[in-house]
Formats: sequence, structure tokens, C-alpha cells
Amino acid sequence: MIRRLSSNFSAPKWQTIRAFSMAWYCSGSTNTELVENLFKVELIKNERVKEAMLGVDRAHYAPSRPYSDSPQPIGHGATISAPHMHGHACEYLIDHLHPGARVLDIGSGSGYLTHVFANLVTAPGASDQGQVIGIDHIPELVELARINMNKSDDGRELQKSGKVKFITADGRLGWKEGAPYDAIHVGAAAEKLHPVLIEQLQAPGRLFIPVESTNDGSIMSSLSGGQYIWVVDKKADGSVHKKKVFQVSYVPLTDPPRS
Ligand code: SAH
Repeated sequence: MIRRLSSNFSAPKWQTIRAFSMAWYCSGSTNTELVENLFKVELIKNERVKEAMLGVDRAHYAPSRPYSDSPQPIGHGATISAPHMHGHACEYLIDHLHPGARVLDIGSGSGYLTHVFANLVTAPGASDQGQVIGIDHIPELVELARINMNKSDDGRELQKSGKVKFITADGRLGWKEGAPYDAIHVGAAAEKLHPVLIEQLQAPGRLFIPVESTNDGSIMSSLSGGQYIWVVDKKADGSVHKKKVFQVSYVPLTDPPRS
């Protein structure tokens, strides 16, 4: 989930400005127009990502302004992320989103990205292994994701067949019952790179996660503060490689609200 579009990208600054202005320019009046616009300005580059996004109507997930390239509130303090951020997440994970892959979507919120992932890993002809688990810690949002996905025939079928499952749980622990995963996506900012998520990765596998920079009060930490997407690769030999890729602004991965 993204709160400020302008902070989705790190330096150099021209790139921030370019992405910010293009994000608005990319909005469309239909789902197809939105996705085609994102592709035209190369906010999405991969044909498979484009096809998967064309296959999910955002109107089922973001009813107020479905084709705007901006985050939208979905209730319970959560938002559906901007389309270009969903695109980025898919692009970073695409090599691991092959037909038959297993995916964990933590902080699944509206369920939109869970559906896009499912389109990528359960393509016709794929093995029956392909599965996406969406986790959120707010039961009402888990129910909302199920309802949203049931608005389309393919979404209903994906849930009926068990290829997509939405679960209420604390995503900071991952979901060991479904591990190992070829790809893990985290849609809210973690305080740290939770080691358990790396443990639950397949080898090879990739984790895409926004992480808060630690603020120890020093000048250096205040200069480099904020949240960054980290991409963590577990290679086939089991070795782990971490890379900080760009700056973002997500809602935090937290304890569930007290009722
Ligand atoms: N990818 C979603 C983003 C939703 S916003 C979308 O685009 O629709 C982030 C989500 O993370 C919220 O739904 C929030 O409830 C969830 N979240 C926050 N902390 C969590 C935790 N500890 N475990 C699971 N989900 C969490």
C-alpha cells in the first residue's frame, strides 16, 4: 500500500519527478487504457505482467476511482496500492512467477494483486501446483478480498479450485503451511527483514518487501530514513542475497487493531 506517489522512487530526483508526473498521466478511463498507458511509459515493461493486469478489472477491487494511477482507500485504514506499484512488484518478481509457482501475498488487502499473481502462476496448461495465498490480519479485509475476487468468473473459479486462498493471520510470520514459496510479496512496511520469510522461500526464490530504515537518532540515519523496497534472493545453492532497490511509503505491517 502506498500513501505518497512521489516517494515511490529513490534518487536520482529526476526519476522521482518523472514517475510522479507519469503516474497521473497513466490513469485511464478503462482498465485496458490504464494498463496500456503504464506499458507505454514503461512503468510496466514485461508482456506477461501486462497480460496478467489486463485480466483483472480494478473496478472489482477499487470501486471509487478504479482506473486512476493512485492508491485508493478500501476501509480499515488500508488502501489498495497504485497500479504502477502493483506493476513494479510483479516486474521484480516475474522470473519467479512462472506457471506452477507458489506465491505468498502478505497484506493482501483488496485482493487485487493476489488475483494478478494467480493469473501469472495458474496459466492454462500449468501444473496444478500453482497457488497464491493472500494473508491479511484484518478479517473484514480477508472477506472483502474474497468478495472482490468472486465478482469475476475466473476469480470465482480460482477460489473454488483452491488455487487462491485468503487467510487471516499475522503476515510477519509468513505462512509455513504453504511453504516453500517461489515468490513472497509484502504489501506493508516491515520493521525489519523478517528472517522467517527468507526461511519460507524456495531455493531459488525471491522476496519483495518494503522495510523501514532504522532510525538510531544519528544524522546519517535521519538522512537515509524512510522506507525502501528490499529484494531478497535465495539462490539455488541456498545462499541469500539482499538488495535495497527504491524508496517508498507504505502503511506499516503492524499488530492487528484491538477490537
Ligand atoms: N496489496 C494490498 C495492500 C493493502 S494495504 C492492495 O493493494 O490492496 C496493506 C495491508 O497490510 C492492509 O490490508 C493491512 O491490513 C495489512 N497488514 C498490516 N499489517 C499486517 C500484518 N501484521 N499481517 C498481515 N497483514 C497486515
